[in-house]
Amino acid sequence: MNDNPQLALFPDIVIIPGILAMLGLIMALLARRKHRNPWLWGTSGFFLFPIAIWVLAFMGYLCPMCKQALTKKQWKERICPDCGDLRTQDVRRAC
Ligand SMILES: [Zn+2]
Repeated sequence: MNDNPQLALFPDIVIIPGILAMLGLIMALLARRKHRNPWLWGTSGFFLFPIAIWVLAFMGYLCPMCKQALTKKQWKERICPDCGDLRTQDVRRAC
């Protein structure tokens, strides 16, 4: 029998922040895929995951070079209006 309230509380104290941290990590990875700030989105995911995931889902990709928003078509073709063809650019630095 567990009559100690501190012990009974212990699993929630560990599990809930653990789940939130996982959700924050997922948000950070999704944000990075779209070339958005992983720290900002990871923090949003930690505190407001249900809202943050919806907002990010509707946000488009950013150009990895100039951070300008790209349309779906531009991202598919990897063409930025400012930087030109992204496949010929060295974008590894920026990612
Ligand atoms: Zn660009």
